[in-house]
Amino acid sequence: MSDSAAALSKSTFIRGVQCLKSLYLNKNRPFLRDRLSAEQLAKFKRGHEIGHLARDLYPGGINCAPGHPSQYRAALEKTAKSIAENKPVIYEAAFRHEDILVLLDILMKEGSVWHALEVKSSLHISETYLIDAALQYYVIKGSGLTPETIRIVHMNPAYRLGGSLDIKQLFVTTDVTEKVLALQEYIGIQIKKSREALTLKKSPDIPVGRHCRHPYPCDFTGHCWKHIKSDSVFSISGLPFDRRCALYENGYTEIADIPEESLPKQEQIILRAHRTQRNYFNSDRLHKRLAFGDHPQFVSFFAFRSALPLFEGHRPFESVIFAAASTDGTHSPQSFTAIPGSNPEPEIRNFLRQILSSGRSVVYYGSEQTRLAFDESGIFSRDDRLINLAEVFEDRDFYTPGMDPDGGLFETAAALGLSGSKTDRISEIMQGVRYLNITSENREETLKVIREEIQEAVVLTSRIYKFLNELIS
Ligand code: SF4
Repeated sequence: MSDSAAALSKSTFIRGVQCLKSLYLNKNRPFLRDRLSAEQLAKFKRGHEIGHLARDLYPGGINCAPGHPSQYRAALEKTAKSIAENKPVIYEAAFRHEDILVLLDILMKEGSVWHALEVKSSLHISETYLIDAALQYYVIKGSGLTPETIRIVHMNPAYRLGGSLDIKQLFVTTDVTEKVLALQEYIGIQIKKSREALTLKKSPDIPVGRHCRHPYPCDFTGHCWKHIKSDSVFSISGLPFDRRCALYENGYTEIADIPEESLPKQEQIILRAHRTQRNYFNSDRLHKRLAFGDHPQFVSFFAFRSALPLFEGHRPFESVIFAAASTDGTHSPQSFTAIPGSNPEPEIRNFLRQILSSGRSVVYYGSEQTRLAFDESGIFSRDDRLINLAEVFEDRDFYTPGMDPDGGLFETAAALGLSGSKTDRISEIMQGVRYLNITSENREETLKVIREEIQEAVVLTSRIYKFLNELIS
């Protein structure tokens, strides 16, 4: 038996919960899948590593993981044998029921009862994780073993690294048995729906919508969205994605169709910008935002977020600035990149404190990733005169059709026509991953690229500031 011989696995079931068309295409047209992004690959790798680490909570287990899909039968047999022999801890325990195959991260025996544990490299338990656990329970129980409890092991948001990694404190184990039991009927219904979808002669007729991004970005987006026109309702990037989906579901497929009055006031402005193809800006609000920015110092940051805390006092997924640059807008930027493997905080702190000592206001672009690092650094206080340019776009004080108001610095600069057409730019998340993956072989080259990019970032920050200032001057 191979994986493909089973009608469903845990991952394909979850795929079907998100969208039955995705489940169908995955089985029947897998060649239409988009290529996995570098971010998704990094996420999978992280999940794998955290899963392995969590095994140390219950050391010495029997590993039943199949090395290859063709070895699932052997994995089932090894699991059954280990259970029969009352092995106290089993990793990647394989179960099959109703032609659904699942691998459980940890199966553990305490006294005469079994406990099922699923590991997640995340700080919180999402609805999808509960459904995932509920399917595991359904299959394990159906196969003949009823776990006393099912638990989710996830990262402890309150944990701080001491001298060495304390696995028992790093993870939190939450008993989700009650919630999982309440989901069993839903799981049965969803399995039936999934089976029906898989027996269809052609893919189910499911229009694009919110489910294409939630809870995960679907990897058939390239296929399903190719018929969406460039001037469709989805191109109004200034409207929240859910709003665009709701308009589309209600039959407003093109920009011209949308009744302006159906939108909140701020969104009407965005719609008008698209209809007229003109920039929108709120002069009063821009004035207020930029008011104390006379001859400011511009600063840019790159940050990483590591699932495992790397330095003493750090928490899981803490945002840490590893590179910074500064300029007054006229002189060449100065930059600093921390030595890989060491705690960047002390030196970054020194670098930024020198900037602050000038007494000038500080202008930066703090999108989601960098803002967290900025806030968590504790370098700047409320009394410092700070202007975060990202907020101008997030709050729609300026909008140009086609821009992503929640995008990063480089995306915003490109949307404003302030940067070149560099196509191989990586995301802010991948900047952090790249830094964390520096090796002795790629060290010099990677540090050089980071230095160039952080300096470019601060120059672009100053250009965005100048662009906005010129609008209101
Ligand atoms: S892109 Fe959207 S509609 Fe297409 S399969 Fe994925 S979730 Fe379903």
